[in-house]
Amino acid sequence: KIRVRYAPSPTGLLHIGNARTALFNYLFARHYNGTFIIRIEDTDRKRHVEDGERSQLENLRWLGMDWDESPETHERYRQSERLDIYQGYIDQLLEEGKAYYSYRTEEELAAEHERQEAAGETPHYTNEYIGMTEDEKTAYVAERKAAGIVPTVRIKVSTTSIYKWNDIVKGEISFEGGNIGGDWVIQKKDGYPTYNFAVVVDDHLMEISHVIRGDDHIANTPKQLMIYEALGWEAPQFGHMTLIINSETGKKLSKRDTNTLQFIEDYRKKGYMSEAVFNFLAFLGWNPGGNEEIFSRDELIKLFDEKRLSKAPAAFDQKKMDWIDNEYIKHAPLERVVEMAKPFLEAAGRLDERAEKFVEMYQPQMKSAEEIVPLTDLFFGEMPEWDEAEKEMMSLETSPVVVAAFKEKLAAIPEADFTSENIYPLFKQVQKETGVKGKNLWMPIRIASTGSMHGPELHNAIALLGKEVSLNHLETALK
Ligand code: GLU
Repeated sequence: KIRVRYAPSPTGLLHIGNARTALFNYLFARHYNGTFIIRIEDTDRKRHVEDGERSQLENLRWLGMDWDESPETHERYRQSERLDIYQGYIDQLLEEGKAYYSYRTEEELAAEHERQEAAGETPHYTNEYIGMTEDEKTAYVAERKAAGIVPTVRIKVSTTSIYKWNDIVKGEISFEGGNIGGDWVIQKKDGYPTYNFAVVVDDHLMEISHVIRGDDHIANTPKQLMIYEALGWEAPQFGHMTLIINSETGKKLSKRDTNTLQFIEDYRKKGYMSEAVFNFLAFLGWNPGGNEEIFSRDELIKLFDEKRLSKAPAAFDQKKMDWIDNEYIKHAPLERVVEMAKPFLEAAGRLDERAEKFVEMYQPQMKSAEEIVPLTDLFFGEMPEWDEAEKEMMSLETSPVVVAAFKEKLAAIPEADFTSENIYPLFKQVQKETGVKGKNLWMPIRIASTGSMHGPELHNAIALLGKEVSLNHLETALK
């Protein structure tokens, strides 16, 4: 039975990397008719962010994911609510002599690490009881307790053991116990378990079959395997997804990369389509083979195959994201794009009865709903400046002739009949009258009316501008 989980720490907004982890777990669960679980890993009180959990769930839901078990429907699906459960297993390991209380202070540990570094060693913990007799141990503990030092609990590491697993993504991986850094803390001074301990207890009790997560967790896996072994439990299968790199720099994607949108919230705020973001995420380190890149959620569920998770770094390409979003917007029903665009028009003070027409006209170009605002500049008194190519076109001898003829015909249309249907035939008429045709005919008219060589269907744009404004534009161009 397939049971997988997404286990966010509520330390901030939903980042693209975490969203991708959630997404692959979701696709894996749904593909195999398994169970998708959300568990909140909130044992790091220092990094806790108020509202972090709500923001995670809200954004996953926006992306179109749903789940079968979570803190919303299941009791004690937050680690902070399970402290007594962890305590039980910590007590067990203490009793069995597999773990012990450690009284080393932060300062002593720091000093030890410094000494080791100076000696060219990797910093590690050395068992503080080594070389002590039973009496000395008792005295040491008593003295430390009397000094008010609160202990941590450490697990004994077998330095000769090899910890290995067959990673779903990376294949055979192994770590030597001697390279772990010594006996490590499973319970902190504040009584909270460490991540590497709690995650094992939870994954076991929640009967997780596969752990799919980012490869920043690879070095944690041997520690977790140790806990499975110490508690006599069978470990799940692990899969560590490839790193995400910025396609422009070739380096690990960093929150400082300003040329990228990295939080799901950003995409929502800018009016991307959630299906498009979902589609994009699915290709960060996976692909179904072939050249097709646009897939619905259902298709991705059907196609998902964990064996196709890539070993090579996944390139995060903002242009690709925008291309995909444009593909979705282009093909979406007009009403939906209008609904998405309205809040942006409203915020810009541009929401009027032309909203639907604007969207209809610009839908093929939009890479996000937010873009409707700059695209409609022209209709709110902001004519673009001509660039060199536009100036050159306007300096042709025939250009003023064409524009003037067009203006005269436009002026003759009564205000009430100023529709794109009535404007459309004028181009032919001007062609007949002036003998100018093709690009030299319609480009000057386009530039004079809209300030640019590029844009939507001209008769539609002119109708939307209205008679007075259009005549003004033509007039200005002729000066
Ligand atoms: N809470 C961990 C994180 O956010 C989860 C790691 C895991 O999936 O085991 O990175």
